[in-house]
Amino acid sequence: MAWKTLDDMDLKGKRVLVRVDINVPMENGVVTDMTRIERIADTVYDIQDAGGKVILMAHYGRPKGKVVESMSLIHIAPAVADELGVPVTFADSDYRDAVKEMQGDEVLLLENLRFNPGEEANDPAFAKRLASLCDIYVNDAFSAAHRAHASTAAIAKLRPSCAGRLMAEELGALEAALGSPKRPVVAVVGGAKVSTKLDLLGNLVGKVDHLIIGGGMANTFLAAQGINVGKSLCEHDLADTAREILEKAKIVGCEIILPRDIVVARDFKADADNETVAPEACPADAMILDAGPATVAYIEEVLTNAKTLVWNGPLGAFEIAPFDAATNAAAQAAAKLTKAGKLISVAGGGDTVAALNQADAAKDFTYISTAGGAFLEWMEGKELPGVAALNG
Ligand code: ADP
Ligand code: MG
Repeated sequence: MAWKTLDDMDLKGKRVLVRVDINVPMENGVVTDMTRIERIADTVYDIQDAGGKVILMAHYGRPKGKVVESMSLIHIAPAVADELGVPVTFADSDYRDAVKEMQGDEVLLLENLRFNPGEEANDPAFAKRLASLCDIYVNDAFSAAHRAHASTAAIAKLRPSCAGRLMAEELGALEAALGSPKRPVVAVVGGAKVSTKLDLLGNLVGKVDHLIIGGGMANTFLAAQGINVGKSLCEHDLADTAREILEKAKIVGCEIILPRDIVVARDFKADADNETVAPEACPADAMILDAGPATVAYIEEVLTNAKTLVWNGPLGAFEIAPFDAATNAAAQAAAKLTKAGKLISVAGGGDTVAALNQADAAKDFTYISTAGGAFLEWMEGKELPGVAALNG
């Protein structure tokens, strides 16, 4: 890989400016989920252990280039200090002086980058101002890497730069899953709509051996094959696109797996009366809300023979039981195979992570990406500006 890690840098006595993602959820001034802060700990400790001074920079919310007091990172600073167990000082404007005054193992946190319009504009002048604070630039915010901003893109050219621990871990996991994966590779793509994941499907068809399509997306594919999907969530106007994807898959030898049986109901609510039928037998007044047991059995067979799995999107309306059954079963099968050392499994996406947690499967996956948009763009095969910038 072209990018460097902390191990390639001489950090002793250096001022190290680290782009992190600490865009944590807050309620009434209290951080309700520390995960993102926990995940930058290794980078901070490793830089300090190597004798470097840590300056953190991050965004919070969407202030759109203006100072919005409620989005100041000053509110997050105490949580960072608590979680990392190091003193954290906050600098709202006089960055240079604040850097000069840094003592001992103190970490300096800069104000919300997005208060400055130069950040999202990838403005060279703003990047230069940030670069002037440091000797070395580290990007540890994979989740912000799909944006070409001053702190993720422009700055990387101005100082020796490398990936932080979290970024390196994420890139390593993704590379193992789609870059040079062990085959056969299976992708699960589910969720609500094909229209939001067209690029993703297009890219995966050319890369994976088996593509399992589930959730509302599967309905669009079933309908495109002439099946009446009743009142199901379905994008009928994408029938041609769905057929093109099926055609491309045939040409490149990718097996597309659609539901072989479906769970249908008349109401979109928990414990709604439901039945399991063949796809061709969807009643005109019903909705397809999950894949059935025959589909799950086949998915388990495919996973058992696979070496690598990438997953985005639930197989059904997992928020309402019992329509979480297929998602749970497939997730648990993947978790078990991973635990047994037979499968490399990588998953990402807001609802996907929630679904895998709900199935109690996430903890056994090889890697769960919390990067949202960046993970999806990576699955789509797009170059991420924040990663490209590190490639020098
Ligand atoms: P992610 O956030 O992981 O990228 P998506 O947002 O694409 O996933 O999809 C998740 C949503 O898709 C969930 O809210 C789920 O209820 C919905 N969904 C899945 N299958 C169906 C279905 N058959 N009918 C309606 N909604 C569905
Ligand atoms: Mg979602």
